[in-house]
Amino acid sequence: MIAPSNAIDSEESWDVVVIGAGPSGSIAALELARAGKRVLVIDKEAFPRFRIGESMLPHTNRVMERLGLMDRVRELPHVVKRGLEISFGDGRRDPAAIPFERMLGDTIKQTFNIRRSLYDQMLADVAMEAGAVYRFDDSVASIDHLARGDVRLQLDSGPIRANWLIDASGQGCVLGRHLGTRKLLDGYRNVSYFEHFEGVERPSGDRDGFATLAMCREGWFWMIPIDEKTTSVGVVLDEKLAKLIPVPANQRLDWCIENCPLVKHRLRDAVGPKTNEVVGDFSYTCEPYAGDGWFMVGDAAAFIDPVWSTGVSLGIDSGLQSARWIIDVDSGRMMAGAASRAYAKRITRLRSSFLSLISNFYDHSFRELLVSGHSPFKVDAAVVNMLAGEIFEGVPFRVRWRWELMQWFKELNRYRKVVEWIRPHSLLQSGGVALPAPQSGVVRGIKRRHRGQPSWQPS
Ligand SMILES: Cc1cc2nc3c(=O)[nH]c(=O)nc-3n(C[C@H](O)[C@H](O)[C@H](O)COP(=O)(O)OP(=O)(O)OC[C@H]3O[C@@H](n4cnc5c(N)ncnc54)[C@H](O)[C@@H]3O)c2cc1C
Repeated sequence: MIAPSNAIDSEESWDVVVIGAGPSGSIAALELARAGKRVLVIDKEAFPRFRIGESMLPHTNRVMERLGLMDRVRELPHVVKRGLEISFGDGRRDPAAIPFERMLGDTIKQTFNIRRSLYDQMLADVAMEAGAVYRFDDSVASIDHLARGDVRLQLDSGPIRANWLIDASGQGCVLGRHLGTRKLLDGYRNVSYFEHFEGVERPSGDRDGFATLAMCREGWFWMIPIDEKTTSVGVVLDEKLAKLIPVPANQRLDWCIENCPLVKHRLRDAVGPKTNEVVGDFSYTCEPYAGDGWFMVGDAAAFIDPVWSTGVSLGIDSGLQSARWIIDVDSGRMMAGAASRAYAKRITRLRSSFLSLISNFYDHSFRELLVSGHSPFKVDAAVVNMLAGEIFEGVPFRVRWRWELMQWFKELNRYRKVVEWIRPHSLLQSGGVALPAPQSGVVRGIKRRHRGQPSWQPS
């Protein structure tokens, strides 16, 4: 491992300065350093540092293979992920399996879950080995000038200059806040509580390594095995409903587990902290994603929701793309304006595809189709392709028409039973907290479907 550098000459001008040493920043730095660029990466934290977001998409493996990094991943403790299982939190039905094996076409059908402190450190190490310079424990305090060929930043340790800026500051959104473009997404005002546990019961047999999702009226849980012993457990809740939970924010994971039969059962012998980490306001966009001499990558550009584990894949993809556009512009193969537009177009397309996947998940009718575990014309297989990240280079026709058909089934299922109708489990009701009237929640499509039917009010 190469040591990060603390001695940086403030007079020195860099080709590219990258804010943030997460996966997005390090992949950009690696690609640029391999192309001979002089890259400086600044991170305000000391590494290795904790990050949530341990579950990858098969698409990530493809990128790691292309960059020659898969062996470095294999050297780290990790769990091979071959799919996920999904269920309602009442625990009355066995979770439905969504194996990547079911994907259409000849494609990568597995990925990995990994502790992010190790993964992010490894990516920083390979970028440093390629020649990138890292400076940890130093924060970007302000952006003083922003134009191609003349980027000036003020760090806690002093000023620096560069030709290009890549903002990979994650939810810090340094550039989005500087430009005043960061906007929270209406309809996704969620909060998440999470922790690492040992001794969580895991799916086994042909579900070995699967992540588990458990859905409730107010949100959903994840249980992701990340190494031999450790499982990442968390819950995402509607922000307003979360505030009704009668315990402080740093104890709400425990309260939610207690009130979710499926998760409680899986954690019956688990050992972990009684308090939890909290993250809120994580759904936003900082559009436009590129401009004169700068790119926003990963979470610094936009984030919607963690449900389909898309964050790191999007970060890696955008980090790589931004680096390639910089290399092309500097070598005269591309005009700077065209590069910014092409980059922004890709991010907008990917974001809108993933937004469609995510908004479907928050629709109860879609959830019922998902957990039914069967469907005509292999439409569910198309969903697996989408969930696996087979979106990045465009959605193939065989997947697209099935996805459209699934949308049609979803609408039909609101009124006519295409699959079994399921009453969603409510954490609040289970914990003795009255649901606010009129009944609200993160899940859409419940009231509408039940016109003329007995409503799902507290019994
Ligand atoms: C509850 C939850 C669960 C998630 N689960 C998953 C999952 O299972 N799978 C998945 O793929 N994604 C998941 N994500 C998303 C994932 O965490 C992010 O998409 C991913 O970490 C983005 O990587 P990044 O490199 O863009 O940012 P980060 O990994 O956040 O890195 C940004 C870096 O920038 C640094 N920084 C910030 N501000 C400054 C500053 N002013 N100066 C210097 N440095 C700065 C930070 O210290 C940090 O190290 C989840 C997110 C949430 C909220």
